[in-house]
Amino acid sequence: MALVRERRQSKLGLRLPEITDRRPRFPLPLPPTINQQVTKSSISTTEAEYETVKVLGHGNGGTVYKVVHKKTSNVFALKVVHADSDPMMRRQIFREMEILRRTDSPYVVKCHEIFEKPDGDIAILMEYMDFGTLESLLKTTGTLSEATLADVARQVLNGLNYLHAHKIIHRDIKPANLLVNKNMQVKIADFGVSKIMCRTLDACNSYVGTCAYMSPERFDPDSHGSNYNGYSGDIWSLGLTMLELYLGHFPFLPAGQKPDWATLMCAICFGEPPSLPQGVSDEFRSFIECCLQKDSTKRWTASQLLSHPFCR
Ligand code: ATP
Ligand code: MG
Repeated sequence: MALVRERRQSKLGLRLPEITDRRPRFPLPLPPTINQQVTKSSISTTEAEYETVKVLGHGNGGTVYKVVHKKTSNVFALKVVHADSDPMMRRQIFREMEILRRTDSPYVVKCHEIFEKPDGDIAILMEYMDFGTLESLLKTTGTLSEATLADVARQVLNGLNYLHAHKIIHRDIKPANLLVNKNMQVKIADFGVSKIMCRTLDACNSYVGTCAYMSPERFDPDSHGSNYNGYSGDIWSLGLTMLELYLGHFPFLPAGQKPDWATLMCAICFGEPPSLPQGVSDEFRSFIECCLQKDSTKRWTASQLLSHPFCR
């Protein structure tokens, strides 16, 4: 079975909407803008004029652009999702919008504004993270040191602790969904999509990139799901992410090997969890073990891990 994740690339030629098209159908209220450097009024839809600088990335059903607000020269990321033709995509993006509207944490990517275009496309204006994702950082600068990883872990755990306290489960924690800026601030991005994408095994099959970080109880609910707890699934994914950033490759497979469904299933559900090589600190080894417990009830919570010696 071919399992390489496919991206929708049929509409890569999308341009930013013309100014006359940018009228929102409904202005969605946002959380209070504490700590927000850009005030909502300075980027309000009616006044705003954005210039596309470049494409930052392509995701499922959408494209993320770097844009500049011409009046203020403030830089943003604009995620445009072509939701018109696909009701499932529309539900997914509305879920992401709902979560982004509710969240206000320095460890979660900030959403400034949401527009719905008359043609049904939806655009989410977010804070711009100039170093991209931890996945791209790994490719450009190589593996991360223990000290850097402790800092990354602390920030992601603060984000997860915030989300879990608000009853939000991310379900797609992986290096590609953690954004970084030049100050090495790490923020959780890309919400809600995977909640729907991975609800069934079928839907999951075409998104191995996401399934690879799934906990055993989500991958195979029949054998491991009796104690299903979505929060601890995020912790498993964090453990794998940390390990990958240290090793430089997806921890369940040798470097360079592409995952396929059967290999992932065997490794995640029947094999032992991956561990760190010789030479790392006891704290780091213990931290990874606390995240990568196959029995989800034995996994530490985000708040417990924040007091783990590795993070402190
Ligand atoms: P996927 O399903 O592949 O994760 P997606 O449709 O959910 O994709 P995102 O993960 O939100 O889309 O974004 C796709 C890419 O755009 C990211 O991998 C990243 O490179 C870039 N990107 C997204 N948001 C930002 C941002 N706020 N600042 C800078 N780059 C961003
Ligand atoms: Mg993503």
